[in-house]
Amino acid sequence: MSSAPLRSRYHLVTFGCQMNEYDSGLVAGMLEGAGARPVEAPGEADLIVVNTCSVRAKADKTVFRTISNYACLKKRNPLLRIAVIGCMAQAHGQAIRDRAPYVDFVLGPDGYSKLPLLLTAGADELPAVMTAFDPGENYRGLDAKPASPFSAMVAIQRGCNHRCSYCIVPATRGPEKYRDAADVTRECRNAVARGASEILLLGQTVNGWREGDARFADLLSELCRIDGLRRIRFTSPHPIHFTDRLVETMAREEKVCRHVHLPMQSGNTRILREMRRVYTRERYLELVEKLRAAMPDVAITTDLIAGFPSETEEEFADTLSAMETARFDGAFLFAYSERPGTDAATMPGALPEEVRQERLRRMIDLQNAITEERTRAQVGRVEEILLERPSRRDPETLLGKTGSFRKVLVPAELGAPGDYVRVRLTGVSGWSLLGEAVR
Ligand code: SF4
Repeated sequence: MSSAPLRSRYHLVTFGCQMNEYDSGLVAGMLEGAGARPVEAPGEADLIVVNTCSVRAKADKTVFRTISNYACLKKRNPLLRIAVIGCMAQAHGQAIRDRAPYVDFVLGPDGYSKLPLLLTAGADELPAVMTAFDPGENYRGLDAKPASPFSAMVAIQRGCNHRCSYCIVPATRGPEKYRDAADVTRECRNAVARGASEILLLGQTVNGWREGDARFADLLSELCRIDGLRRIRFTSPHPIHFTDRLVETMAREEKVCRHVHLPMQSGNTRILREMRRVYTRERYLELVEKLRAAMPDVAITTDLIAGFPSETEEEFADTLSAMETARFDGAFLFAYSERPGTDAATMPGALPEEVRQERLRRMIDLQNAITEERTRAQVGRVEEILLERPSRRDPETLLGKTGSFRKVLVPAELGAPGDYVRVRLTGVSGWSLLGEAVR
């Protein structure tokens, strides 16, 4: 077996969603636990890890562009190893090395425990491609390195059992696995002991979490009992798992933030069936009503897709009317784009790109008007905000968030990042609210 000097400097790049951000925290925790330290510049590293996303075809191109920049670094540092991990690694496996031969290792989301071995591995000591799914891999007992000193992400569920026809996640993340409540509580308690006051629970269908007879609502209640924890958020719930008991728990538990990101995707039941979303327009809108009845101050945001294959003008109008009815506080809006490997990519009835874009524009115009109206309706309220960081435009101003996830700009003298302050909302600037101290 060949031996190689210890690699001790790692550079980590993250693409994609909050689950990937969390996983990068896990990877950083494992590498630092094995004695490595992070470096800002890839040229200073002897292990480069690229955590990839595969949700959109464009993401693949961005990743290949990024890793191609590292090829020349290997000439300067023969010790350097490059690892591509995450969803794209899982989806493409060896094909990544065929296209980018300077990539040494490809690891899927269940292979991250092998990463510390890359710090010492010589040539050919480890398989180059490690993408087998492991139903038992839940990263039990590990803590993700937090990206923020006062807000921590904690994954409670990995993978997805749904089969939404446009989505690649079940293929890249595998079937659902739930972390046990004791391990989740342990990681949350550790984060609070390190200074976090806000926890964001993560899962592809986070509210589908279960353990024996316990359901997500029970886990939320249990976490609310952690002293020192002030806010709990979760993303992304699936409408089908949003039970009455979960709505009641949210309404009862003050630490659970009044914000639900509830992906709708389409306001037309036939298109929802084509998407295999397993709920109807009516059922979704009933859930929105229930949430608002139980928590009048709740903010509801969503994801919507315009121009899904075979969507008629009338069916698209149903999405616009659902937006009018639900009056979302904000939305991530997309024109449908084919994702190779998904069922929707080969469905008949693909719409021309100009139709998709034109529908997207109409959705954006409508949502902008609704978001503006709902943001303005907050003016005059008194809210507690968590200060996060200086504003990018004006360092004399701090950006904070309400429990309902609204951005608020306040004068910097009100506090420091990590502080909670009570503010009166006095106006609107762009998509943010303006706040002043409540005396
Ligand atoms: Fe993808 Fe649907 Fe699973 Fe969400 S619920 S991760 S959209 S398959």
